[in-house]
Amino acid sequence: MKIRDILKDNSPHVSFEVFPPKTDAGYEGVRAATEKIAALRPSFISVTYGAGGGTSRNTVRIASQIKNDLGVTSLAHLTCVSSTKDEVHGVIGQLKEQGIENILALRGDIPADGEFPLPNHYRYACELVEDIKSQGDFCIGAACYPEGHVEAAHKKDDIMNLKHKVDCGVDFLTTQMFFDNNILYNFLYRIREKGITVPVLPGIMPVTSAKQMKRICDLSGTVLPERFRAILDRFGEDPDAMKQAGIVYATDQIIDLIANGLNHIHIYSMNKPEVAEAIIGNLSTIIKA
Ligand code: FAD
Repeated sequence: MKIRDILKDNSPHVSFEVFPPKTDAGYEGVRAATEKIAALRPSFISVTYGAGGGTSRNTVRIASQIKNDLGVTSLAHLTCVSSTKDEVHGVIGQLKEQGIENILALRGDIPADGEFPLPNHYRYACELVEDIKSQGDFCIGAACYPEGHVEAAHKKDDIMNLKHKVDCGVDFLTTQMFFDNNILYNFLYRIREKGITVPVLPGIMPVTSAKQMKRICDLSGTVLPERFRAILDRFGEDPDAMKQAGIVYATDQIIDLIANGLNHIHIYSMNKPEVAEAIIGNLSTIIKA
């Protein structure tokens, strides 16, 4: 099913995200985790994409398993900055062959040691959106950044670039993680004012380890509110307590978002079925499977 059709339903729903193994040896573990997450009957499961090698092949494999074996709608991420246009077209062809209808069109991070853009490579995600559109009847998602993308000097420029990307043919947006819902509400106000009207799926990360949190914030520039810092200070050294607190914090964010009319929440569940199960358990009367 196309995600743009799923999003027409206004009752509260969640989707989850998994990431493929770096090597084929890790495939079985990810497959088993995905099976447990699919059993929770989310509205869809997204599969992240790493440039080149086994990771990209496994994205197609896992997205196909989710759709064709587990009967859950899948969303395959696809990045373009580190691949030639022919390589990207090859992956789009494989997705089509597997009947995968939904692609999250991403640029990917610019390689630290490389020339950018390389000849016959993409520069921005908007070019990939146009290309996917020309290759078939896909539902296309894209990324957005409530706190601004790290490369953008000003949020207003980032929002203008986002408007252009959406106008190229994006059906829905998924946000980078955030830990203060007011940041999202402010962002939504600003993008709606600029005429970006497609559905926006808030991306919520249940933080289950203090170390993971530090790495994520260094990479994405995500701001941590005082309330969350206090949790890290108090429970960061106690893995079980940190996991429980992270799940409760994410649940609290989700309830606030749903209460404010955002009915579809995307959860960065990171191949952890127990985390996905705990959140679904906390929302058992709010989310109808
Ligand atoms: P773009 O939309 O191209 O934006 C990148 C930068 O360029 C921004 O600063 C933007 O303002 C600017 N820009 C865009 N268009 C123009 C233009 N026309 N002119 C001038 N400037 C412009 N990475 C992975 O490797 N694999 C994944 O699976 C993955 N999944 C993700 C899922 C989500 C929901 C999110 C939020 C991010 C994900 N990422 C993933 C990370 C993403 O690849 C990086 O954040 C990357 O740096 C930007 O990708 P983008 O598609 O947002 O790029």
